[in-house]
Amino acid sequence: MFQEATAEDRRKYYTMEWKIERIPDFIRESIHLREFGFDHTGQGPNDRYRFFRDEKFLTKFMKYRAPYAAYSSVALYDRPWKREGWRSSELVFDVDAKDIPVRQCKCDNVCEKCLDQAKEIVAMIIDTLEDDLGLREIHVIYSGRGYHIRVLDPIILKSDSEVRSQILKYVIGGDIPRFSYTDFEGRVRSLDHFMVPLGYPRVFTERSRYIILHLNGDEKIEDITRQTMNKILEYRDLIGADRWGEFRDIIGPRVYERLIKGIAKLNLQLVDARVTVDLKRILRLPSSLHSKVSMICTHVEDLESFDPLRDAVPDFVKEKS
Ligand SMILES: [Zn+2]
Repeated sequence: MFQEATAEDRRKYYTMEWKIERIPDFIRESIHLREFGFDHTGQGPNDRYRFFRDEKFLTKFMKYRAPYAAYSSVALYDRPWKREGWRSSELVFDVDAKDIPVRQCKCDNVCEKCLDQAKEIVAMIIDTLEDDLGLREIHVIYSGRGYHIRVLDPIILKSDSEVRSQILKYVIGGDIPRFSYTDFEGRVRSLDHFMVPLGYPRVFTERSRYIILHLNGDEKIEDITRQTMNKILEYRDLIGADRWGEFRDIIGPRVYERLIKGIAKLNLQLVDARVTVDLKRILRLPSSLHSKVSMICTHVEDLESFDPLRDAVPDFVKEKS
């Protein structure tokens, strides 16, 4: 498992197993509006600005070239061969199992455990996109080393990088929510994030809970010493039980403030922000082979039941084992 594919493996995959039908409809119906990119040697996608008039041309290319990696743009263009005439871009969140800030597994590539963790994070983000932001037409792609969430809701297709960056911060809990308000007697009061069970404070609290419960203790958090970290780990069950106030009293309000600042920074690393704000990004093409790990980039129909080790393994790997 997870070994690099040889040229022979690739050839086998693209001639015998790959089918255009494995590309999800939202891409198939707009092939002629997307830029395609390819990596033929394993050095990165150097062959860009590719354009295919229809499925037939793309099929021919894939079968004949058996690329090391294939990508298509998240954007639609009038002239994709020049990346001109931009029409819209999907909103994308890239969760790479290798880059999870509180990785539970110490392996140097990815494994079942890392991929499970990535899936958990993806499920949390999708809940927020749907329930809090009311977004629809959300697709999940297993990339080979993690997941891409691709949102095609018409309401965000034309939004710029700034808006996308704000949405990103919302769904991953990148900003500490601060509340001060004036009560009915005119006194200024403040509320902690965990006191508000709704909206953004709830998202922030949930992401922070996830991070704190998954800390290994090796993470570097500014102004948090090893000793303090041990105390956090010792008492974090309180957070698991939603007893944030008690937890804060035990570790001390000042340490708590430093911790929360650090956690917000870790939250930001749940998703690769560069991908979300880039309107002209190319993403691994669903159906194509991730040759570095010999897995199929796969459109996920049902996230809960999806198992990459069952659903994204090419025949040539099954034959070898
Ligand atoms: Zn692992």
